[in-house]
Amino acid sequence: MKKRVENWPEQLRDLWPGEIEWNSGMASWCTLRVGGPARAIATPASRAELQSLLALLARLGVCWRVIGRGSNLLVSDAGYEGVIIMLGRKFSAIEKLAREKAGEVKVQVEAGCSLMKLVNWCAGQGLAGLEFAAGIPGSVGGAVVMNAGAWGKEMSEALSAVTFSGRSGELLEKKRDELAFSYRHLETEGLIVTGAEFLLQDGEQQAIEEKISRFLCTRKEKQPQGVASAGSFFKNPPGLPAGKLIQDAGLKGLRLGGAQVSEVHANFFVNTGSATAQDFLDLMRLVQEKVGERFGVWLEPEVHLL
Ligand SMILES: Cc1cc2nc3c(=O)[nH]c(=O)nc-3n(C[C@H](O)[C@H](O)[C@H](O)COP(=O)(O)OP(=O)(O)OC[C@H]3O[C@@H](n4cnc5c(N)ncnc54)[C@H](O)[C@@H]3O)c2cc1C
Repeated sequence: MKKRVENWPEQLRDLWPGEIEWNSGMASWCTLRVGGPARAIATPASRAELQSLLALLARLGVCWRVIGRGSNLLVSDAGYEGVIIMLGRKFSAIEKLAREKAGEVKVQVEAGCSLMKLVNWCAGQGLAGLEFAAGIPGSVGGAVVMNAGAWGKEMSEALSAVTFSGRSGELLEKKRDELAFSYRHLETEGLIVTGAEFLLQDGEQQAIEEKISRFLCTRKEKQPQGVASAGSFFKNPPGLPAGKLIQDAGLKGLRLGGAQVSEVHANFFVNTGSATAQDFLDLMRLVQEKVGERFGVWLEPEVHLL
């Protein structure tokens, strides 16, 4: 990468017209509610703003990372000495495409759209296929990159194409069969997801809404409520729920500093109020070691570290 230009913050402020927040604590932007400050958080409102931002950051030699709603992120206490690019609510249009086949509808969505907003929009339109995603926090972009899933279904099954932006802003569309999805992962090769196209089925609004309510109720029963978490902390090893391994290793409720293995669901790590990112890292390592010693399985984090 090019050497960083010393007065990059001033140049960024002067040359890029979009919204920037300076030295903002990442704890406010992540559902785990930990993380030090990012030097800058830039929120492009359009693809054109994103493109000009990427071109400028490349010229200034500034590192960046794109995030959605921070619901799967553990940001270090030291924060991030670069630019966090947030695809937020201004980047969130939903559009129904012309019907190609009876019974099926394609929907194009910008990456910053909240996944729950999309799920509710689909229900309102009588479109089935994304009900499983009800209650998964985060953005559509984040859900595509994470190949988010629940109840045996995942994003890859409902997608027909994904649009990306390259590191210098060039746009690229990949069809479903060109995309390498695996469990909680899409191979992005460092590209930014700017939009997604879903292939959905005509359905009955009431039946879709009932399914969504059932999924939301089950979440309420099985997952901790009203506490800061990032959902499942670890990926499930093949055939074995990580939560069961953690529970059977006797670690439910284990606490280090302000980070705790949830009493309700052992694969959720929760912030009891005063946690630091280091508390979560220490707890992660301890749980990995104890589960490893007991069952010979090394748990891999699902949460992304930044
Ligand atoms: C209470 C709770 C319940 C949850 N339940 C589930 C569940 O049932 N199933 C499940 O799969 N997950 C679940 N999660 C985890 C999380 O909500 C999902 O992984 C979600 O899809 C992440 O979206 P996000 O926008 O918050 O992504 P972020 O956390 O912001 O980012 C996740 C990763 O994707 C990258 N990224 C984000 N947007 C883009 C983009 N546009 N282009 C390129 N890279 C990008 C980030 O750099 C980061 O590496 C849960 C989380 C919580 C807090």
